[in-house]
Amino acid sequence: MPTIEDIVILEDKMYILAEQCKGCSFCIEFCPKHVLVVSEEFNAKGYHPPGIDAKANCSNCKLCELLCPEFAIYSTDYSLRKGAAARNGLEEGQQ
Ligand code: SF4
Ligand code: SF4
Repeated sequence: MPTIEDIVILEDKMYILAEQCKGCSFCIEFCPKHVLVVSEEFNAKGYHPPGIDAKANCSNCKLCELLCPEFAIYSTDYSLRKGAAARNGLEEGQQ
């Protein structure tokens, strides 16, 4: 069972359980926004989990989440930056 420490935040609204990934590249090939790329990282099984193209813009369509046979990738409407800013009493973008 994965724990919170296993979750890697790829981008503000994208998450991956890198150790669960089998490197099939479905999420990378079918992302309509070309957000995901093969990363240079290896997980413990020797697979390359997806990384993210910082210039691309995830539309939160969740296709990657639906396609992943390992339930290893997720997107959310909830912005971590907004959440962190709210917790700290700041406007988003303020540090
Ligand atoms: S949620 Fe959609 S746009 Fe975002 S990375 Fe996944 S497939 Fe691509
Ligand atoms: S679809 Fe899932 S298992 Fe396949 S590369 Fe993407 S995250 Fe890894």
